[in-house]
Amino acid sequence: MQILTNSSLRQRNTFGIDVRARRLVDYDSVAELQDLIWQRQRQADASPLIHIGRGSNLVLMGDIEGTVLHSRISDIVVTADEGDNIYVRAGAGLAWDEWVAYCLDSGWYGHENLSGIPGEVGAAAVQNIGAYGVEAKDTILYVDAVDLHTAEVRHFCAAELDYGYRHSRLKGDLQGRYAVTHVHFRLSHSFRPCLHYGALADELRRRDIRDYDVTAAMLRQIIMELRADKLPDPARLGNAGSFFKNPVVPRETYDRIAATHPGAPHYDMPGDMVKIPAAWLIEQTGWKGRALGPAAVYERQALVIVNTGGATGADIAALMCRVRDDVEHHFGIRFEAEAQFVGLP
Ligand SMILES: Cc1cc2nc3c(=O)[nH]c(=O)nc-3n(C[C@H](O)[C@H](O)[C@H](O)COP(=O)(O)OP(=O)(O)OC[C@H]3O[C@@H](n4cnc5c(N)ncnc54)[C@H](O)[C@@H]3O)c2cc1C
Repeated sequence: MQILTNSSLRQRNTFGIDVRARRLVDYDSVAELQDLIWQRQRQADASPLIHIGRGSNLVLMGDIEGTVLHSRISDIVVTADEGDNIYVRAGAGLAWDEWVAYCLDSGWYGHENLSGIPGEVGAAAVQNIGAYGVEAKDTILYVDAVDLHTAEVRHFCAAELDYGYRHSRLKGDLQGRYAVTHVHFRLSHSFRPCLHYGALADELRRRDIRDYDVTAAMLRQIIMELRADKLPDPARLGNAGSFFKNPVVPRETYDRIAATHPGAPHYDMPGDMVKIPAAWLIEQTGWKGRALGPAAVYERQALVIVNTGGATGADIAALMCRVRDDVEHHFGIRFEAEAQFVGLP
């Protein structure tokens, strides 16, 4: 366990926002985490307790006058191997993309399309990360967590967590209550590529690659290249990936927009709902590439807000509000942020 006091979180969030935590704890095991919670109970310490991963989906709004927890649990255990299925438990502190690479090296398939997503295994189960037609929930069976109030260990099955588009109960009604310690996945010994997602299918066509020629390594490589082309590298330009969720609206809302914007992009969803790309809506308001102080809408992908230098959480929130309000004014659709605001007074 490592405990730092009055520690800068600048290197701990991909926006590079410079705030401080009164106490920053990197713990290495479930037992260490439980000891820490029991110690708080003994000392009647009711100061805020915030769990972070690699900070790749956070907007830190100010100094944190409490404890910031971070997991370094990174064990990988095969719990069962039955026919085509392999069941593996992974520690929450593993870097997500290192986990994906490890799976591919081991011949365990199911995560290829999620290559290159920043963050950790624990957060992937909180956020239900997704990309190129695949979501974390497709392979998650169970999530082990520790109750931050009682130190009790919980074993959630995926159905209990109510997974949806970038959603789980761990970021809903259970937000802030549990620290995820391990995630149990069901992966496959057979490679069954998922290639239907529009941008991926287009890229395969452009490269003249047939579906049956695609290998897992090739798929990972193509996805990494597509991502590098579209998303800024946080090491060079601070960002949190897609800032807003793509809105899912009733069909009549889409029809109203299409009447004035013929050919507006959309994806049909169950229940006569329609998903409209948030990036397209932002582009129509003219925000793509525009800045407000040291925060800007990324010039190559309007869904990404970037820190052009020294932005605070308030700068990013101000730009977010302007973009969200303009989209609402133009289209009557209110965006929901995908990034999470931490340390709001
Ligand atoms: C360049 C870039 C590209 C991205 N691309 C994608 C993408 O394609 N698809 C996608 O879905 N996301 C994407 N993201 C967003 C981000 O990578 C994911 O949301 C990721 O899961 C966040 O992981 P993290 O470890 O950084 O978590 P953080 O951002 O630190 O935390 C996110 C949330 O999880 C909670 N949390 C973290 N760890 C734990 C834990 N062990 N126990 C309990 N709660 C925890 C935090 O409290 C917080 O609420 C991208 C981000 C960037 C910067």
